[in-house]
Amino acid sequence: MITRPSKTYIVGNWKMNQSKFDIDAFFKALSQELLAASKETLPPNLFETTEAWIAPQFVHLHQLYVDISLWSTSSPFVGQMKMKYGAQNSSHKEKGAFTGDVSARALAESGCHFVIVGHSERRAFFKESPEILREKVEMAFAQNLKVIFCIGETLEEREQGKAVEVVLNQLTQSIKGLDQSKCHEQLIFAYEPVWAIGTGRTATPEQAQEMHAHIRKILSDELALEGATMPILYGGSVTPDNVHELLRQQDINGALVGGASLKGADYAKLYLAAKVKIG
Ligand code: PEP
Repeated sequence: MITRPSKTYIVGNWKMNQSKFDIDAFFKALSQELLAASKETLPPNLFETTEAWIAPQFVHLHQLYVDISLWSTSSPFVGQMKMKYGAQNSSHKEKGAFTGDVSARALAESGCHFVIVGHSERRAFFKESPEILREKVEMAFAQNLKVIFCIGETLEEREQGKAVEVVLNQLTQSIKGLDQSKCHEQLIFAYEPVWAIGTGRTATPEQAQEMHAHIRKILSDELALEGATMPILYGGSVTPDNVHELLRQQDINGALVGGASLKGADYAKLYLAAKVKIG
């Protein structure tokens, strides 16, 4: 019997944005929007089945810890979200002379729940190779962090009809052969077509669904994993306006969101949209 992923993940990737002041404003707006939304009927199990994750800049991890604790006490709805925080990147080495790097162990000690690995901005601007990404995943696995592993093709690759091949290679080079039980417990994939990130040009729900189905098949057929059970998020110009249609797709288990996750009210709307997955 095929068991589909039972949770929906709404992950905010704040990139190199948000001041401390912005973070306080985020939580205030989040709390207000959830309170307003609670006046309509929300599915009773929305909060149990929807994960709220945020990845701030490293130096703001502690700020997230503080704000989540404070707001969870003062706002029952923020409390029900049981928000978790994580990092946008981590080192491929365990420790040592790697000035400026942050180890997976330090992230775990800082209360991180997850780390994003292989974001296209890291691949493009910092030339992170498939081998380095594989080591990063292994380091994160060893610290029991969840890993959001990003894959996706450029516009040129899509136009050349190579999108599936690119994703297949990214998965094979960095994930194939890793400890299977860790993959099943700790890995979440994010399909992020590079041409849709920060461009306002999102993949259509049909394009995203088609690729997600391919990814599941690749996971099962090429990587010997239980592809049907593994969460696959979509990322690329997701907004409160288009998130419903994307989440309605059978093989989309959540969203990795950059720009639209910065404002608390928008993040609340993205989160609440997960109700389309219930029922
Ligand atoms: C991202 O950062 O992963 C992303 C998808 O960004 P945006 O939502 O701004 O396109």
